[in-house]
Amino acid sequence: MSRVVLSIGSNLGDRLAHLRGVIEVLRPRLLAVSSVYSTPPWGGVPQQDYLNAVLVAEDPELEPSDWLRVGQELEQAAERVREVRWGARTLDVDIVWAAQRRRDGEVPCRSADPILTLPHPQAHNRAFVLVPWLEVEPDAVLEVSAGAPQSLRELLGVLDAAEVEGVRRTELALGWPV
Ligand code: ATP
Ligand code: MG
Ligand code: MG
Repeated sequence: MSRVVLSIGSNLGDRLAHLRGVIEVLRPRLLAVSSVYSTPPWGGVPQQDYLNAVLVAEDPELEPSDWLRVGQELEQAAERVREVRWGARTLDVDIVWAAQRRRDGEVPCRSADPILTLPHPQAHNRAFVLVPWLEVEPDAVLEVSAGAPQSLRELLGVLDAAEVEGVRRTELALGWPV
């Protein structure tokens, strides 16, 4: 059993429809869904702005590796083509953070495996992840490089202010909870 924080983003084609497609598939497993944010591209490749959101999901059967597979199936369903690293895409589904649920509580997953690195190695550097995540989990903490847990507010505080301000909440609806 695992609980995950997912970052979803799109900047090609019908961006909102791509994000809504994720909600439709994951609906029974969703615990929380952020607003939709309009965000400038991250990573230096010139491209159109993104729509981004963060989801919290849980499933009694799925392990973190299963969530990666589910995310990749969703990307394929959106006909994602990989050309340039951090280039434009119809849909990106990243696992930002995952935890195993145990009877005595929740244990955050740590992995340096390049197939599934947890927490996501860039999460703390990305306002487009931290701002929507803060909206749905104001008390969440993230351990950066196995360091002490830091609050999302702390992590946002050291990012470039212009980058944080560039992440703009929209009124677009993802169709959750209804
Ligand atoms: P970034 O991961 O920096 O956001 P990206 O999302 O554009 O870049 P992708 O092309 O979507 O990168 O994925 C490249 C590979 O990253 C995938 O094949 C996947 O195995 C691997 N990966 C490692 N850790 C994660 C994670 N936490 N979430 C999603 N993919 C991951
Ligand atoms: Mg990504
Ligand atoms: Mg990805």
